[in-house]
Amino acid sequence: MANLSEFDIIKQYFSFSRYGRHQSQGVLLGVGDDAAILSSSKTPLVVATDTLVEGVHFPSNFLPRHVASRALGVNISDFAAMGVKPTAMTMALSLPNNEPQWLADFSQSLAQQCEYYDIALIGGDTSRSPCLSVSLTLLGYTSDEAGSTLRRSAAQDGDDIWVTGSLGKGAAGLALLTNTISREEWPCDLAAQADLIESFNAPQPRLEFGVELLALANAAIDISDGLLADASHIAEQSQMQLTIQGDLIPLHQALLTHTNTQTTKRWVLSGGDEYELLFTASPLNAQVIKALSQSHQLPCHQIGRVAKGSGVKLLGRDWIESNAAGYQHF
Ligand code: ADP
Ligand code: MG
Repeated sequence: MANLSEFDIIKQYFSFSRYGRHQSQGVLLGVGDDAAILSSSKTPLVVATDTLVEGVHFPSNFLPRHVASRALGVNISDFAAMGVKPTAMTMALSLPNNEPQWLADFSQSLAQQCEYYDIALIGGDTSRSPCLSVSLTLLGYTSDEAGSTLRRSAAQDGDDIWVTGSLGKGAAGLALLTNTISREEWPCDLAAQADLIESFNAPQPRLEFGVELLALANAAIDISDGLLADASHIAEQSQMQLTIQGDLIPLHQALLTHTNTQTTKRWVLSGGDEYELLFTASPLNAQVIKALSQSHQLPCHQIGRVAKGSGVKLLGRDWIESNAAGYQHF
């Protein structure tokens, strides 16, 4: 084990955002002092934290660059679902050891993505722990003084229900990664398998799309727990009923070749780790949403309707059977 102190680790690996680059975003003081300072803004501040623990949120021996891409991806996804761009973050890192190669790979991946999404790492905490965990707190300002965001509670009677991208990939990727299903068993090509695994390793948050949806959608949530579970959060908080047509749910391409359709449907309905946006919008906005989907080259499918009532209703015989032992929708 190398002789890196906590201070060396912070200076060497986690000080990549501190050279004044982020002053325009309101970062007055970043990593290095007892606390960071952000200038105040006319618009409200949005804050979200997500923790990833080894063995719980990602398998043991997950590559360091994937720990970084997954931690950032799932956290940014929460902001995408609010329709807000994050500008800064803090990181609480618990490490079982201070291995320089691990730290270098983790830090490089984190820095690259912070650069890509234009997020400043402004502070955090580093400690030794028997178990690896990464907890990020993201901060961002709303685009208007009224503090407009997308909310789980805002679905309206008559709204269309939409989902971005395609589903099933998170659970399928994890099954392949953890060998719950063997790669030989899977009747799709290696490129498709790699694509599934990559979607688990490095979720692609729908941030730009979410920010644009702010003007078009009513309610939104990112699918982290599974389509039905997350739909039920919107139903409960909006006090509405969400009816989903099983046959309209977009399946990830690689799942279409899988012979066990019960398994794939279960992944689609109850598998988490999708990081797609589930949102509701007035039918009057359907054409604009389709145009947005085209301009962002992000497929977007209408999968159901919001109505007065409660809970999530799933339609389509095959789909209800697949869900028989799974999620309770009433
Ligand atoms: P203190 O002991 O006063 O809490 P620390 O040694 O924990 O100070 O932190 C020193 C500086 O390094 C602080 O500015 C803190 O925000 C930053 N820092 C510590 N750990 C991390 C990390 N994992 N990522 C980013 N910044 C960090
Ligand atoms: Mg500290």
